[in-house]
Amino acid sequence: MTEVTTLHNSVIMMVDDESIMVELIQMFLEETGYKRFYGISDSLEAISEIHLRKPDILLLDLVMPGINGFEILKQLRAHPQTAHLPVVVLTSSSDCETKLKALELGATDFLAKPVDQSELALRIRNTLTFKAYQDQLAYYDSLTGLPNRRLCLERLNNAISRFQKVNGFLSVLNIRLGHFRKVADTYGPEISDALLKEVSERLLDCVRSSDIVSHGGDYDPSRITAHLGGDEFSILLTRIQNENDASYVGERLVQSFDKPLCVEGREIYMPLSVGIAVYPSDGDNAEILLSRASSTADLVVDEGENGFQFYSDEANTHLKEKMELGQDLRKGLSNKEFYLVYQPQVDAVSQKVKGAEALLRWNHPSKGVVAPNVFIPLAEENGLMIELGTRVLREACQQSVLWEKEGIEDLTVAVNVSGRQFKADNFFDTVKRVIAETGAAPSNIMIEITESLAMSDVHQAIAVLLQLRGFGISVSVDDFGTGYSSLSYLKDFPIAELKIDKAFVDGLPDNLGDQAISSAIISMAKKLGYKIVAEGVENKQQADYLSFVGCDLIQGYFYSKPLSVKEFSEFYFREDTVLIQGAQL
Ligand code: C2E
Ligand code: CA
Ligand code: CA
Repeated sequence: MTEVTTLHNSVIMMVDDESIMVELIQMFLEETGYKRFYGISDSLEAISEIHLRKPDILLLDLVMPGINGFEILKQLRAHPQTAHLPVVVLTSSSDCETKLKALELGATDFLAKPVDQSELALRIRNTLTFKAYQDQLAYYDSLTGLPNRRLCLERLNNAISRFQKVNGFLSVLNIRLGHFRKVADTYGPEISDALLKEVSERLLDCVRSSDIVSHGGDYDPSRITAHLGGDEFSILLTRIQNENDASYVGERLVQSFDKPLCVEGREIYMPLSVGIAVYPSDGDNAEILLSRASSTADLVVDEGENGFQFYSDEANTHLKEKMELGQDLRKGLSNKEFYLVYQPQVDAVSQKVKGAEALLRWNHPSKGVVAPNVFIPLAEENGLMIELGTRVLREACQQSVLWEKEGIEDLTVAVNVSGRQFKADNFFDTVKRVIAETGAAPSNIMIEITESLAMSDVHQAIAVLLQLRGFGISVSVDDFGTGYSSLSYLKDFPIAELKIDKAFVDGLPDNLGDQAISSAIISMAKKLGYKIVAEGVENKQQADYLSFVGCDLIQGYFYSKPLSVKEFSEFYFREDTVLIQGAQL
């Protein structure tokens, strides 16, 4: 649509008791191309008509029987919906006092009566252009050009008030992008912006080509699709026959993201999680529908992404539970409900235990042991991870000292560090302080950061890694192979170790793809001087294969699950029976 046609679609209203004036101006404006003109000569109807028609501009006569223009202006300005509506006041009097009064009441502009047509056309065009610009800023997302959350809510509310009269269905789809954060952290803001644009294009294509939408009449995809912010989009379907129609669109969306997006020469997979809420069954106002669609999308994300679901009690319960768990987390910290378990890392050749990865557990008073994958993201969101992470570090350092006293020497204790922790300005100072307080040997402590975290801010990461190295603490890059980077990115990083992710170990030794990836990572990492740990090793064939291709340390259920401190010592001192034990699993 060109700018002129957009302007010509604007709704113009005029309130003037002289109906002949209204008709003249209507004729003139329609000839000029404006198609949506509403004239009112009974000033008593003005306010309610304005609220109904929602004009983009109002031409208002001042002197009228019933209520006069001043009063109308006052009432419009007092109402939030019309407080900023552009009002051009038509005044036959050239006297300053009248103009001043209208100005004080919030008139946007003046036009002298009798109205000069070319001047009218100019005023209207200027006012509408300015309004369009302001609307663009206030109602549209500058990155994708799509409606923003505010406009989406307004349109949803408007649709609901229309539907209340006709008993129809409408539904809101909340769309979340899988691992967008990770990709954004890895590639930085430029690529993630480009990615969001690609996503919005694909969403629009998908809506455009959907049967439901194209059969629905005058659906404009760029009106019903919105970018709510971050990795969250929405689609509003107002012309559906029944709830099933929304599921067709949901399905279509998910399928169309099976193919990777191409962003600046890179192929990026972005699975979608879609939550659907339907009016009237799931709520009767825009906020509730949108938040229910969003909590349903949350549920889809937590259940493994890539799919769609309708809002249900389950989604509601899920959201509630998540919020409650967040609150319990705080209590759990003061009640000392957290503890560490340690998973042995075994030397691939000598079979001796060389390392222990500290893994956090939460003993919830009613739920029992909660997995870190559940509570760590919550702790990050709730701002508790720094405190929790510092406790983990302190506990692991203390344990390292105790083990050394017990005769478990030269054991490397690996500690996982979260995004918030690693990015905090005082991370290195905290590490130094904890080491000093506990008396642990820096060379016995290994910090694990994930590959995507290392890549999110390369300069910051390298600076912190250099500080740690200078202090004698080694760093390991965790979950290697899942973070979309390659070894060439890593070569500038002062790290000591790479951990090959379980995903590439699972298919060994038979899967040729996993073979190729793991042996390529190992041989290249060796050249760069890194140690290699394979994690998630569950059977002897995997362990043998990894040891054959040069992996240094093996961690996984094949040798042992994460153990309590006591069990770990027993495991360590029973080292010679390790293989037999592993084989029995
Ligand atoms: P991770 O760092 O990749 O830890 C490895 C996970 O794999 C652990 O899960 C471990 O129990 C599991 N695992 C080890 N061997 C096997 C195996 O042979 N088979 C299978 N199926 N799984 C195996 P866990 O303990 O549930 O921890 C999950 C994640 O939570 C960790 O992944 C880590 O990212 C995070 N995490 C755990 N503790 C902490 C912590 O203290 N701080 C931070 N920031 N994150 C932590
Ligand atoms: Ca780890
Ligand atoms: Ca890992």
